[in-house]
Amino acid sequence: MSRDPTAPERRRLVLDSVRDYLGQLVEEGLEGLPATAAAPAATKPLAAAPGRVAPAAAGAAPPRSASAPAELLSRHPGLEKTATLEQLSAFIGDCQRCKLAPLRTHLVFGVGNPQADLMFVGEAPGADEDARGEPFVGRAGQLLTDIIERGMGLKRADVYICNVIKCRPPDNRNPEPDEVATCEPFLMRQIDLVRPRAIVALGTFAVQALLKVKTPISRLRGNWHEVRGVKLMPTFHPAYLLRSPGEKRWVWQDIQEVMKLLGLEIPSRGGAR
Ligand code: URA
Repeated sequence: MSRDPTAPERRRLVLDSVRDYLGQLVEEGLEGLPATAAAPAATKPLAAAPGRVAPAAAGAAPPRSASAPAELLSRHPGLEKTATLEQLSAFIGDCQRCKLAPLRTHLVFGVGNPQADLMFVGEAPGADEDARGEPFVGRAGQLLTDIIERGMGLKRADVYICNVIKCRPPDNRNPEPDEVATCEPFLMRQIDLVRPRAIVALGTFAVQALLKVKTPISRLRGNWHEVRGVKLMPTFHPAYLLRSPGEKRWVWQDIQEVMKLLGLEIPSRGGAR
C-alpha cells in the first residue's frame, strides 16, 4: 500500500529536489546565483491520485497541446500521414537527419505491443541498445523488465517501450537540443499511433522532453501529468535506481498509481522492490 512520506522523507525529498535543480542549472551553464530571489518558475504538482493531472508549469514554456501536433509533425513533412508503427518506422528509415546518424550501429525505434495500454519512454539508447537495436536491454533494461514483469505482473511484450532519441549519443552524453528537436516528432507520432492509456516517463530527460518543463524529476514524480491527451507518470530512471537502490520505493509508489489507473491488481509485496 502506498503511504504519505514522513517528515524526514519529505525533508530529504526537498533536499534532493534542490540538489537536482542546482545540478541542472550548472549543466545549463549557470556559474552563480543572483543575490535576489527570482519568482519561482516550476510546476505545482497536485497530490498523487489516480487519474489526477498536474496543472501546466507556471512560468515554463506552455505544454504542447491542441495546436502543437501540427507544428511538431510538420518538422518532417508527411509524418502525419503515417498510420501504423510500421509505416512510421519506414518513414524514419535509415535516418540521416541529425549528427548522431553516422555514429550509430542501429537506430532504436521501439518494441512491444503496438496497441499497448502502457508505454515506457526513456532517454536514448546506450551501448547495449545500440548494438542490438532494441531499447532497454542492458542492466537498466533488466531492471525495467523486472518492474514490468515481477512488479506489475505484465509481460515485457504487453507494453510498448521506446526512447525520446532513437540513436545513441556518443559516450552516453545527454542528447543535445537539435537532436531532440529532430527526433521528438517521431516520439509524438509513436504516442499518437499507440494511444496508450498511460505513459511512464523514465528519468529527468524523458520527463522534461515530454512535458517541456525544467522542473526536477523529484518534484514531478508521483503525480499525473498529460502529454498529447495521454496521462503521464514521471518516475526515476532505472539506471538511477542501479546507483541509488534506496530510491526504488518511490518508483514502486509511482508504478502502483499506474497500476491503479490501469485497473491492475497490486500485489501486497511488489516483486520489483
Ligand atoms: N536508457 C535509456 O534511457 N534508454 C534505453 O534504451 C536504455 C537505457
